[in-house]
Amino acid sequence: MKMRAMVLREYKKIENKPLSLEELSIPAPRDKEILIEISVCGICRTELDEVEGRLPTKLPVIPGHQIIGRIKELGSSVKKYRIGKRVGVAWIYSTCGLCNYCKNGLENLCSNFIGTGCNADGGYAEYIVVNEDFVYPIPERFSDSEAAPLLCAGAIGYRALKLCKMKDGDVIALYGFGSSAHIVFQLIRFLFPNSKIFVFTKRRGDRASELALSMGADWVGETGESPPIKFNCAIDTTPVGVSILEALRNLDRGGRLIINLIRKETSINGLDYVTHLWGEREIKTVANVTRNDVSEFLEIASRIPIKPEIVKFRLEEANDALLMLKYGKYTGSGILVIR
Ligand SMILES: [Zn+2]
Ligand SMILES: [Zn+2]
Repeated sequence: MKMRAMVLREYKKIENKPLSLEELSIPAPRDKEILIEISVCGICRTELDEVEGRLPTKLPVIPGHQIIGRIKELGSSVKKYRIGKRVGVAWIYSTCGLCNYCKNGLENLCSNFIGTGCNADGGYAEYIVVNEDFVYPIPERFSDSEAAPLLCAGAIGYRALKLCKMKDGDVIALYGFGSSAHIVFQLIRFLFPNSKIFVFTKRRGDRASELALSMGADWVGETGESPPIKFNCAIDTTPVGVSILEALRNLDRGGRLIINLIRKETSINGLDYVTHLWGEREIKTVANVTRNDVSEFLEIASRIPIKPEIVKFRLEEANDALLMLKYGKYTGSGILVIR
């Protein structure tokens, strides 16, 4: 039996269409693995870092780590699931389960962390096999398309927000307003109703700033501007180094900046101790995600309920979708509709 997949064989700029549509054998689930028939896979900026070679992957690889589908086949020792169940797969494909990080609730930092669609084949395909311990039931109220972006953009955004240690009434700034930030925005409104949200995009009047305004952001400007007041927390999801300096410059004393990105495309130049750091300002990055983050977030997201802005592409349009993402040609969450 064969399946269609978009495969990366060689790192190239996305302009050169590095992903090719191929017919591959459908993988067979062994032991605790399940075979999932994929309906939708979300598109993430990390996939740009993968195809362009900033983030090493296995080669060849099938990218994609925000996967929704139904269980088609079970390995011989699967216990938790039955055939036909709708489940999701996130960025965390597997961890060792034995190291100190894994044992202490920080499996996201496991040195044997395997990323879906990076170190293991992912969801730009019709099928995937994955261990039953690394899938999540999807709350009924979400369609497949609505649920896919929750698995990385949402779940890692949720982890970033937790790392902010934000309190109700704090002012938070979002640098970049793509798939993750527009989901986190809804989460902040729900958890911290008395907080103000400032949004910084690349340019005033761009698509992302229009989306932020339409969602009711308290202030929207472009990176480089100073907001009316300093903020207590910031989450940076932009691919450029300069937004780190900008966020630090506008951060109030005792404030915290969380950087939610696996790679930056440009370096951080000109860090000045007084301008950017003094006053107990903190910086932390988000690395990966734990299974607990994903489960917790899906539960909260279904209570709100979070509604991502969805832009649909077909599987064979993955190169075009990533190209559009690179140049900010769509807002919200891009997804590949596979069936
Ligand atoms: Zn992602
Ligand atoms: Zn480990």
